[in-house]
Amino acid sequence: MDTAEFTDWLSGIERLSGGQIALALAELGAFARRSDNIDGRVSTEACRPEAASPTAQAERRKALRIERDVLATIGERKVERVRYELKMREVSVARKTPVGESLLAITFTGEALADFESRGFDDHCKFMFTTPAGEAVRRDYTPRHFDREKRELTLEFALHEHGHATDWASAAKVGDKAVIGGPRGSMIVPTDLAWYWLIGDASAFPAIRRRLEELPAGAHVEVVVLCAQAEDRSLFAVAAPERLHCVSSVAELHAKVRELALPQGEGYAWCAGESAAAIGVREILRQKGLPKEVMRVAAYWKEGAADFHEKMD
Ligand SMILES: Cc1cc2nc3c(=O)[nH]c(=O)nc-3n(C[C@H](O)[C@H](O)[C@H](O)COP(=O)(O)OP(=O)(O)OC[C@H]3O[C@@H](n4cnc5c(N)ncnc54)[C@H](O)[C@@H]3O)c2cc1C
Repeated sequence: MDTAEFTDWLSGIERLSGGQIALALAELGAFARRSDNIDGRVSTEACRPEAASPTAQAERRKALRIERDVLATIGERKVERVRYELKMREVSVARKTPVGESLLAITFTGEALADFESRGFDDHCKFMFTTPAGEAVRRDYTPRHFDREKRELTLEFALHEHGHATDWASAAKVGDKAVIGGPRGSMIVPTDLAWYWLIGDASAFPAIRRRLEELPAGAHVEVVVLCAQAEDRSLFAVAAPERLHCVSSVAELHAKVRELALPQGEGYAWCAGESAAAIGVREILRQKGLPKEVMRVAAYWKEGAADFHEKMD
């Protein structure tokens, strides 16, 4: 099975019933045992805890960094892409914690997380689960926090009216099982640039919150977030409160971004959220003359579309 075949296999997983996911994982495990795990191939090595001796773990971690390339150059600094070996990891719910008004954090645990890797604040993994009706579903989520010692991975779900993932998260109980696929790779944006803009709605809060934690204390960061509830302001730990802008509509979000003056020096603008809203932000950033190498704008979901996937160019 090469990468293309694996991608087909992965698409097929969506059509499987709940119990069949386990069978599919067994199939993948059998493949991993057959394969020599070279670049571009797939392994469930981490799903087999009995193989996790300290030496084997160190070797695995080394093998995870299978490719590194430069996406853009900002002055003397580089935006890099690190690719990992794609793995499926079986996990279970350890605990649920409400985060502000909009997010529900779910912490998953499992020995398979021993060699989980996520180095970029906007990484995403495939969260795979089975609905009560037996439908296998997968959605994208940001690894918000990872504790290797405890083998714990936390995702933050922006709860919305209805959707398989939001419903699963709301109803999840300790011990419920799911599968985490990936991340396939990370985009590494330097943490010592002159400025950063972080823009988005609740689906982007996990990435924005993670980035705020990663940046050095004195970093010049402007945050523009669409907060359905004003209380969600407290979710963002910014050093300069005047640089945190909580708005209550997409129109206000666009207006605020339009109003901001580009700071001096080399920086990076990041935005994610509803498709039309994100496209609007990208247009405003372009009008400000920001080169595409120093911005990343992503559509994380689309109004009225379930399981939305579309790459913005
Ligand atoms: C790279 C990436 C990273 C992401 N990280 C996160 C994350 O960390 N946390 C997070 O909460 N989301 C994240 N998302 C967004 C998440 O994958 C989508 O919101 C997903 O559609 C939710 O699945 P669902 O089954 O609940 O809803 P779906 O079945 O996909 O959609 C059902 C309905 O709900 C609407 N809908 C979907 N998402 C939202 C939303 N966020 N708000 C309001 N209405 C919505 C749709 O328009 C549709 O009408 C990420 C997306 C990407 C691409």
